[in-house]
Amino acid sequence: MIVDFSQEEYLYEDLISGADALAKKYSNIIKHVTIGRSHDNRDIVMLRLGVGRRYILFCAGVHGRETINPIVLMKITEFYANQYEQFKIVKEKFDQKLSNPSSNIEKNYDNMIFGKCIYELLQTYTILMIPLLNPDGYMISLYGHGAISRPDLQKKLKRYKHNFSEWKYNGRGIDINRNFPCRSWKPKGASDYAASENETKALIQVFHQYRIRCFLDFHSRGKSIYYYRNSMTKDYNEKQLYIAKRLKNITNYELYDSENEIDYGDSGGNTVHYFSEHFNKPALTIETVDENAIFPLDYNYRLSTYEEIKLILFELGGLSL
Ligand SMILES: [Zn+2]
Repeated sequence: MIVDFSQEEYLYEDLISGADALAKKYSNIIKHVTIGRSHDNRDIVMLRLGVGRRYILFCAGVHGRETINPIVLMKITEFYANQYEQFKIVKEKFDQKLSNPSSNIEKNYDNMIFGKCIYELLQTYTILMIPLLNPDGYMISLYGHGAISRPDLQKKLKRYKHNFSEWKYNGRGIDINRNFPCRSWKPKGASDYAASENETKALIQVFHQYRIRCFLDFHSRGKSIYYYRNSMTKDYNEKQLYIAKRLKNITNYELYDSENEIDYGDSGGNTVHYFSEHFNKPALTIETVDENAIFPLDYNYRLSTYEEIKLILFELGGLSL
C-alpha cells in the first residue's frame, strides 16, 4: 500500500513522493507528469492512469482548504491500478477453482468480473488524475503563511486576518475556481483578469492537450452534484442530468439543478463552465464531505469519501463516453 489514510499528516511532499511511488510500482499503467508550477514553485502533478485512447479527467484540490479529495484521488488511482494488475492473477486462481468448485466460487466470480471490467476500462480509457491543482493553497490551509517561501507572497499572506484553515485561494490569494475565462466570468477589480494564475493555465493546457470525454471537478461542500449549465443547450443539459443521475446512484449525493448553478452575485469563472463551453462535453462538479463540516476537515473523511466516490470511474466506464 502506497497511499496510507492512517497517516494523519499528508503534505504536498507526501503527494509528490506518492505519485512517484505509484508510477514506479505500476509503471505499465501509471505515468507521473508535471503539468505546471504554482506561484510558490510547487509542481502541479498529473497521474495518467490507463493505456486507452479516450480520456477522462478528474481534478481535485482547486480550493486550498478542501484537503480530503487530493489523497482520496491518489488512493483511487492506486485502487484501480492494483485491480488492473491483479486481474490476471485472480483469473488464473479462478480457473483453478473452477476445476475444483467450492462454496465461495460465486464471490470469486464477482471479484473476477469486477477486475475484468477495470482491466477493460483502463485499456479503453486513460484517466487523467490531477489530485492537487492548487498545492500552495493546500499547504497554506494546513500550515499558514509559513508554508510559502516567496517573501513577497508571504508578506501579503501575513495581512490575512482569518484562520488559515479556511483558506481557499492559491498562493497569490486568487480563487482558481473564479479565474477561468468563461461566459459567467466577471472581473473582481481593476487588475483582475481571467486565466491570470499558473494553476488556471496548467488546467486549461490539459483541457486542450487531450480530447477529454468527461471532466469531473471534486470539491468539498455538502455531498452533492452540480450538473446544470445555463450557458449550454437543452441537449447538453439532458446529457449532464443523465450522467448526474447515474453518479447519484453510486454516491448517494444530492443533485443540484439550474437554480443552484451559480449563487446570486457570484463572479463566475469556474473550471467546469470553461470546459463545457469550449468542448461541449460533460463536466460536473462533485462536492464531497458534509455541508456543515468545519475546516480543517477531519482526516476521518478520507475513508468515507473514498468509499462514496471510488466507483464513479467504474460507472463512467459503462457509459461509453
Ligand atoms: Zn471548492
